[in-house]
Amino acid sequence: MSSSGVGTLTAAPPPPITPPKPPDRGGQAPAGRGDGVALQERPAGPPRPGQVHNLMQTHAERDQLINGMLMSDGSGKPSQTEAASLRSSLGAVDTGVLRFASDPGLKIGVLNPGDEMFQAGVLRRQDPKAIQARGPELQAFAQKLDAQLDQKYGNRLDSVKKELAALPEAPMAGFGMSSPDPHAEKRGNLFQQLQTLEGQRGKELGDAVEKSGLPVKPFVIPTDSKQMLGSPAAQQMALVQAMMPMSTAGMAAIHGAKTPEQVKEFHGLLESINGPRLQAAREDALGGMRQAAERAKTPEEKAHFENLLKLSREKPEAIPLDYRKHNLLVPDMHYVADDKGKTTTVDLHDKMTLMDWSGSGTRTQKAFDEDNLDGSVIEGQYFSRGGMNKMVVRDTALGKGAPVHELGHAIDFQMEQKDPQFYQGWKARLEAAHARTEGLEGKTVSEYAKTNPREYAAEGFAHYYEDPKGLKAADPALFALTEELIARASALGGRR
Ligand SMILES: [Zn+2]
Repeated sequence: MSSSGVGTLTAAPPPPITPPKPPDRGGQAPAGRGDGVALQERPAGPPRPGQVHNLMQTHAERDQLINGMLMSDGSGKPSQTEAASLRSSLGAVDTGVLRFASDPGLKIGVLNPGDEMFQAGVLRRQDPKAIQARGPELQAFAQKLDAQLDQKYGNRLDSVKKELAALPEAPMAGFGMSSPDPHAEKRGNLFQQLQTLEGQRGKELGDAVEKSGLPVKPFVIPTDSKQMLGSPAAQQMALVQAMMPMSTAGMAAIHGAKTPEQVKEFHGLLESINGPRLQAAREDALGGMRQAAERAKTPEEKAHFENLLKLSREKPEAIPLDYRKHNLLVPDMHYVADDKGKTTTVDLHDKMTLMDWSGSGTRTQKAFDEDNLDGSVIEGQYFSRGGMNKMVVRDTALGKGAPVHELGHAIDFQMEQKDPQFYQGWKARLEAAHARTEGLEGKTVSEYAKTNPREYAAEGFAHYYEDPKGLKAADPALFALTEELIARASALGGRR
């Protein structure tokens, strides 16, 4: 798996890659491979006498390149045996590609059960004071973004909502009463329009926030993505949940705040990020309650809403807010337990990393496998966010495809940085090829490759080195794209 600078790639089962096979290349590069020079450095058969010297040299160079990338301190530092395992697993990768990877300083680490993840350098504390200090900047950003979205979507959303409100109430469906809704079609269309518009606005909000690199996020109700993939009912529930209003106390709880101090701290950050817009969202909610009280049909109903209004004024943090209408942003900060049972704060990306690797506090799981409900095991991760360029592999996956898969992520992300012109065209074709693998008829090299274009690229890379024939047969487009990426990386890696 990988994680980008924005940390949206979620936990997923590890790549089901076949264990590395001995090179089956008959001493020659199969036709059409990207880097014939590098391939001939590793023939499967015994080297011809004149080749021995060159071979030794490239083996030595490859080992040297890999050694140079290994983490040299912290709990990610590989032991001698682990380092040897890594050299062997990555031994099939073209030297030029390794040189390309090592040039901006890729770091390779190994995680063992019980390793402390801050010490391994894969977690970083998200300091609430630092977010607070950026309050004015964040508020200006949120305000501007809100104005832009309002200008673009406000009128259209309002008019659809007005049309919906103007329709007579739908008849209640019940046993023995079949009164069809004469406005069903119109109602359905309007709901669809509303959903499309809100979806577009939400995506635009998310993209803008992501691009800004600021320590804020749009508020979303977290859902278990694995569960959602398998269950339409869970998907439906998530959708309904996402449409429900949420109080600031609820937002704090969803971000892991447990003590009153934490709720207060989170609340303060919400205030400093959203400023007067948060107050406007509250007023809006109170206005709704007032209207409901006025429209009440019975004295009991009226009393209920008036009581709600009174309670809300006393406890503003409990007022249910329409966070989507008001484009509220939340601090990108989660309260999590550290390995000493205390609380620490990390961003969403690191929270996901923790969930993937950790069973207790901030240490990696002692028994990696057994605690995962669906039996999936994380075998490795690549980190590119915040200028990080680091891959970690778990101790038991060193001899599997995981090191090459993670290296594939590193090459993908590094190419994006180093040769954007090449990358743009390549990425567009990769995404198109990935889109063709979706659905039941979609066919590619592994189920995991279907996850997203990033995993598709990494799986292509791993299978290219482990079973090129299988890759070519299963997904010729991915084979060609991987070949192209490797050729480009090798060329940029150059010769010494
Ligand atoms: Zn991956």
